[in-house]
Amino acid sequence: MEKTGRIIKVSGPLVMAEGMEESKMYDVVKVSEEKLIGEIIELKGDVASIQVYEDTSGIGPGEPVYPTYEPLSVELGPGLIESIYDGIQRKLSTISELHGEFITRGITVPALDREKKWYFKPIKKEGDRVVPGDIIGEVDETVIVKHKVMIPPDKKPGTIKEIKEGEFTVTEKIATVQTDEGEEYEVYLMHRWPVRKARPTKKKMPPHEILATGQRVIDTFFPVAKGGTACVPGPFGSGKTVIQHQLAKWCDAEIIVYIGCGERGNEMTDVLIEFPELKDPKSGEPLMKRTVLIANTSNMPVAAREASVYTGITIAEYFRDMGYSVALMADSTSRWAEAMREISGRLEEMPGEEGYPAYLGTKIAEFYERAGKVITLGSEERYGSLSVIGAVSPPGGDLSDPVVQATLRVVKVFWSLEYKLAYQRHFPAISWLNSYSLYKEDLRDYIKRNVSPQYVEDADEAMAILQREAELEEIVKLVGIESLSPDERLLMEVARSIREDFLHQNAFHEIDTYSSLEKQAALLSLVLHYYKEARRALERGISVSRLVKMKVREKIARAKYLQDIKEIERIKEDIENEIKEISTREVSKDVSV
Ligand code: ADP
Repeated sequence: MEKTGRIIKVSGPLVMAEGMEESKMYDVVKVSEEKLIGEIIELKGDVASIQVYEDTSGIGPGEPVYPTYEPLSVELGPGLIESIYDGIQRKLSTISELHGEFITRGITVPALDREKKWYFKPIKKEGDRVVPGDIIGEVDETVIVKHKVMIPPDKKPGTIKEIKEGEFTVTEKIATVQTDEGEEYEVYLMHRWPVRKARPTKKKMPPHEILATGQRVIDTFFPVAKGGTACVPGPFGSGKTVIQHQLAKWCDAEIIVYIGCGERGNEMTDVLIEFPELKDPKSGEPLMKRTVLIANTSNMPVAAREASVYTGITIAEYFRDMGYSVALMADSTSRWAEAMREISGRLEEMPGEEGYPAYLGTKIAEFYERAGKVITLGSEERYGSLSVIGAVSPPGGDLSDPVVQATLRVVKVFWSLEYKLAYQRHFPAISWLNSYSLYKEDLRDYIKRNVSPQYVEDADEAMAILQREAELEEIVKLVGIESLSPDERLLMEVARSIREDFLHQNAFHEIDTYSSLEKQAALLSLVLHYYKEARRALERGISVSRLVKMKVREKIARAKYLQDIKEIERIKEDIENEIKEISTREVSKDVSV
């Protein structure tokens, strides 16, 4: 018989209960007769501090607490894709639920449908030897995702004694394995995994492949690798959410897990309304068919933000284990950190910087460390990757904020959003001078091989131009534009073209919203072609003001709205022709003089 505890104190999302000596840290408990889901986060003698993932109003001392002796876990199996879950993996079926309405407390609906039958096609047969991580068969989960059914990581190696083909629910037996010790266990389409425990892998590998996002400033200047980590800190309204949505929509990962953590309900509503309408540029299928959404909006209980982050990353690891490239977006990790601060305050822990708990840095690091390119468990050599991109929303956009600092210590890409750029409506408002990507060098070879060597060189040249522009701007501020040489004035014009015609990208424009790497290469090459030709013309004595006024520049500016790369490339000829025309005219002028 399980021993029931008793509530002695309720403080917002934190409940203290006595008589809990049989439970362990991080065990799930059910609080009061309403059976609210909570997790033990501190144990002192028989008193447990429980963070409750549901609204605790109306709950008081004396009420029972029921232990489950199990850690907080998620259900992993077919049916995850296209689902929308709250922080503790309860399925949300309507948009109004996102706004915190209609979610009844204490209900434990299963995360995966218990009735639905899936067609399981085995790829192993009786007598085959299997180890944890081995794929024993597949289920077509959506038109684009083949769900690989694996021997769970916590099982023992053995031999398949029985395996079936056909229609099964997630809890019906599909196989029996006999271990080397002669014990037997059953395999189902579904298994459970504790969210706070990273799923094991064989080995972590250095990432070397780009996670193409279709966003020019990111891919060209500050790319993230498949299996990499990135963070987007920025003030309110600078475009963090739009960037996260853009990545979720367009990045070339096979599976997307999107965690809306503590953000407003209507932002998630946008996701729900918009995502199902979007088509994958490669497969032409709806992007939702590869997406899992975790929504823990601002009007849902604070403590569940923590759960949503762990629930999301565990689901992401599960698909990585199948050999997929997975990308996880979390918006915003600051809301999660604030939840930690609130709970820590109620626990009366010694506060660290800005009242955040001293373990803030460790928690954030542990979260991002679950990203990576890996060799998965299993007897075949299978690679999977999990990229993690977190938005951070520091108060006032202050980068010295403890959450930003703790995040920057672990992530390898930093997209610095600047209020000034957002104010000028230069979107994405990612600063080209302050951002960085530590993957850039490692990805060079890959991009050279898969896109073109020229693109890599062009990116370097464009960055050098932008840096020079910043220096020249200082000079202009001091002594005026007249002090610049014609060469320098041309460079300033080209820098502007790089910013406006290349880096600026409208997320809401049907074509501009996404640029393939090939298109990015073509656009950049076009801008730099103008620079090359104009510089030559300058040397031949054509005036800079004439070159700046060239008609073709209008075409260069509109090139990003073209779908067809060949059309973009043809503008290069227009540049050459117009320069030829100007040259002949200027020369004939000279002759006539
Ligand atoms: P944050 O999440 O940082 O508070 P949002 O992502 O909500 O900011 O962006 C604020 C607004 O900026 C958006 O509603 C949109 O109008 C504009 N915006 C941001 N990024 C882009 C973009 N890439 N293209 C066009 N508009 C953008």
